[in-house]
Amino acid sequence: MKLRRFHRLALGAVLAGALSAHAFTAARAGDTATPARKASSETVAVANAVRVGGDDSRTRLILDLSRSVELSAFTLADPYRVVVDLPQVSFSLPPKSGENGRGLIKAFRYGMVMPGGSRIVIDAAGPVRIDKAFVLDPTGDQPARLVLDLVSVDRDTFMRNLALENNARRQAAAATHKSEVETPAPAGDGRPVVVLDPGHGGLDAGTTAPSGEAEKSIVLDFALMLRDKLEKSGKYHVVMTRGDDSFIPLGERVRIARAHKASLFVSIHADTLGRRNPETRGATIYTLSERASDGEAANLAEAENKADVIAGVDLSSEPNDVADILIDLAQRETKAFSTNFARKLVSELKSSAKLHKHPLKSAGFKVLKAPDVPSVLVELGYVSNPQDLKLMTSDGWRRKVVDSIAQAIADFFAPQVAAGAAPKPRP
Ligand SMILES: [Zn+2]
Repeated sequence: MKLRRFHRLALGAVLAGALSAHAFTAARAGDTATPARKASSETVAVANAVRVGGDDSRTRLILDLSRSVELSAFTLADPYRVVVDLPQVSFSLPPKSGENGRGLIKAFRYGMVMPGGSRIVIDAAGPVRIDKAFVLDPTGDQPARLVLDLVSVDRDTFMRNLALENNARRQAAAATHKSEVETPAPAGDGRPVVVLDPGHGGLDAGTTAPSGEAEKSIVLDFALMLRDKLEKSGKYHVVMTRGDDSFIPLGERVRIARAHKASLFVSIHADTLGRRNPETRGATIYTLSERASDGEAANLAEAENKADVIAGVDLSSEPNDVADILIDLAQRETKAFSTNFARKLVSELKSSAKLHKHPLKSAGFKVLKAPDVPSVLVELGYVSNPQDLKLMTSDGWRRKVVDSIAQAIADFFAPQVAAGAAPKPRP
């Protein structure tokens, strides 16, 4: 019997949120020992049962797997979470698995975080220590089993352990970061770069309709259609922050836009107001502001900004790379371009989509914070509204709305191109 204990893998460091798109690639292509690499050559393990046992002092989670895999586990604070990183695993668990835990495990989520990598994020009931984390090889008729034992500790002990873990993780991240700094930005072809950002992904499903449709899938389908439309025009170089069911941290989405010297960043979402406001509907365009334009915008930004917490991103290791004295100035210019584009979107969407009664709003969305990339967030509609949901999942509606957004993008770039004074693409 072989125990695989606590391998602190590159994957864990990558998903801790400190690294860029480049680092993602490096982690995948560089070290053949990473689980991400292994997944491509071996069949993907299937998780088909999960059990949680124990009490408030010691809790055990067991996940049955079709074959043995390597794992890496670590804790996160505020809120208390335990993250288990795995190579890509196909979760074929009963619906609602993880919604209700017991003992020290309040609830847990699971899913893909990037091609080749999956993750389990556990919401802990309080400060915990990872006592055991290993995978038992299959024996006889027993499947392989992932075993995670958590024990209750006081907050001081939790924070001390966390500091030790973080040190180790930062060192690993720093090594990867170094090579990233030396890497030149991707060479452009002179056309403006438009970054499309389908929200959520992987184990962060975003909002969910009462009938089960997930925001992450609705917005990905839409963004892919918009990408095809824009690419067909030949006028733009289109970059997607994600093109599959991966989770991308919020800061990473911003970094992708900046690394490509994007001229425009369009984040795509689908909102919910839950069962209490099923009649609210329509598309809304958001720009960045320090103070939210109204309560609904503030709540929405708060919900959208939780994506990293949901997916178990270590916010304490997020580098503060936006520290430039010129940022304030750049931001003012960027803000004007963002608002300008948002207005164009509203006037185009009027003809194709039903708009929210106040279609132009602003709030503190993390994903809109690139200081030098005009950025807007489009909420296509409300998954909590049956008519909106029907439209958002219909090809006819999508095509019309994609056309409108493409037109707004063309209008946005037209005067700049005509004047020969495009502020973007940046030099
Ligand atoms: Zn969203």
